[in-house]
Amino acid sequence: MSTALHFVPGHEPPDRPRDGALLFLARGMDVLIQEHEGAPSLPTGAAFPELAAGAHYLGALDGQDCYAALLPEDFTPPEGFTKVLARSLYKRVDEARFAVVGRAISIVEWDLTHRFCGRCGTPTQLVPGERARRCPVDHTPFYPRIAPAIIVLVTRGDTMLLGRNATFPEPMFSTLAGFVDPGETLEECVAREVKEEVGIDVKNIRYFGSQPWPYGRSLMVGFTAEYAGGDIVVDPKEIAEAHFFSPDNLPRIPPRLSIARQLIDAFCERVKGPAQSS
Ligand SMILES: [Zn+2]
Repeated sequence: MSTALHFVPGHEPPDRPRDGALLFLARGMDVLIQEHEGAPSLPTGAAFPELAAGAHYLGALDGQDCYAALLPEDFTPPEGFTKVLARSLYKRVDEARFAVVGRAISIVEWDLTHRFCGRCGTPTQLVPGERARRCPVDHTPFYPRIAPAIIVLVTRGDTMLLGRNATFPEPMFSTLAGFVDPGETLEECVAREVKEEVGIDVKNIRYFGSQPWPYGRSLMVGFTAEYAGGDIVVDPKEIAEAHFFSPDNLPRIPPRLSIARQLIDAFCERVKGPAQSS
């Protein structure tokens, strides 16, 4: 299984038959897969020609066209096909495919939820050459919706602040995160979320990296920040408990897939030197 597949995004469907294209059939957070001896794969257009015909072009994965279409509500998967939670495919398919699955569910959801103009109720139309739908009456455009969210690792000397979310089903500690308010800069959002969730002030807010999180229709924008003052007072609606942890004494933390974990690992490496993998 290669992780080095190259995806070239696009929205203008190429003039090629769709039989051999990968077809991502999605509905909500679900996607249709084919399973053979326990190994998941994505169907090709040949398996569902009618759905492939109306599908959105996503781009090409190592030269293979990729399309996304809405799985009809009353769809009964034929023998050998199953509807699964899209994010359950993490590590079951290669990273490049997993990323395209994320794109697919987002595009399908956008298309489904913008059929009508939010201003006047007229049915919208796809805009050629763009990933957009537009109202033919008042020309309001509707683009795929992404909700930016910040995620921040607050450090104090050689320790880092991790909180246990009040709604996590499992006792896991992670970095703080929250959605950006309209009109707010990312840095203001970082300072506000930290203050709201744990009651402390931060300084030296620095960009770390980002991660699309289509399963929450979100883009996670990662930051580091340094403790500037105040005592930890958690907002119990959001955070059950929060403490500063040293890299040698970490609680249970999120899996490697997440940007939260990348923030934690990068800090541990800075404090302790290049990590022995654990
Ligand atoms: Zn309209």
